[in-house]
Amino acid sequence: MPALQPRPKWRILIRAMARVLKGTRMGNCIGCGLCELLASRIAGGRLSYSDGFLQIRKVASGEPRFKAVIDYGQKTGYKEVCEICPGNCFDLVEE
Ligand code: SF4
Repeated sequence: MPALQPRPKWRILIRAMARVLKGTRMGNCIGCGLCELLASRIAGGRLSYSDGFLQIRKVASGEPRFKAVIDYGQKTGYKEVCEICPGNCFDLVEE
């Protein structure tokens, strides 16, 4: 039986810079939903407007402007989402 190693008194926490998805140009959004479908496909293997880490919602009822609601509790740094958007609405940002 191997001897137990003492726990280190000091732990060094290295937080890697994560790339996250940001809707930096949502004024270009036409509400097509392609990003929602791809986010759902990437994260869960399904095509759904509601199951992914990204949802597109109207800024206000009756207005033709949209906002991205992103669940940052999940991995979001997928360049594919940036690439599929016809309005070039997204960037990957280091955080
Ligand atoms: S893919 Fe781009 S244009 Fe289409 S809903 Fe998403 S953010 Fe808007």
